[in-house]
Amino acid sequence: MKRAIFPGTFDPFTIGHYSIVMRGLKIFDELIVAIGHNQSKKTLFDIEKRKAMIEQAFEGEKRVHVSTYDSLTVDFAQAVNAGFILRGLRSVGDFEYERTIGDTNRILSGVETVILFTEAEYAHISSTVARDLISYGKDIKAFLPPNVVL
Ligand code: ADP
Repeated sequence: MKRAIFPGTFDPFTIGHYSIVMRGLKIFDELIVAIGHNQSKKTLFDIEKRKAMIEQAFEGEKRVHVSTYDSLTVDFAQAVNAGFILRGLRSVGDFEYERTIGDTNRILSGVETVILFTEAEYAHISSTVARDLISYGKDIKAFLPPNVVL
């Protein structure tokens, strides 16, 4: 059984994240969306709200689970018997960062990172822009997965 975690901050979880998970289900038998809980990192949405939004997005999808963690990502992966970390790549900007943490994670633990390129239509979608729009009172429905309301 191939199990992977999809770790992130997901503040908020967007349609770009959703698309990576749905495509990841073609590669992995089971996916755990793992919300990193870093006490010192201030988020717009609290951890319960982020978890509830992701559960809503994958309601009825039995191969997707949602968890929170506050340890090192590879320690969490090993604790849940996941041999892989799934990540998404939008741009060259993402690339350098993903390569550094992917290499570090593999050297630390043997856990491999699998990266999917974003679909072109979601390349501009980011949690940061979604939060900016919210702060100006704009609707971010187009940024959210189907069936998810804020
Ligand atoms: P982190 O704080 O770990 O970067 P994020 O919640 O920002 O967490 O992102 C989690 C993962 O989703 C990262 O691999 C990121 O590159 C990817 N991602 C974010 N937005 C998109 C998108 N629009 N399309 C594809 N992948 C994305």
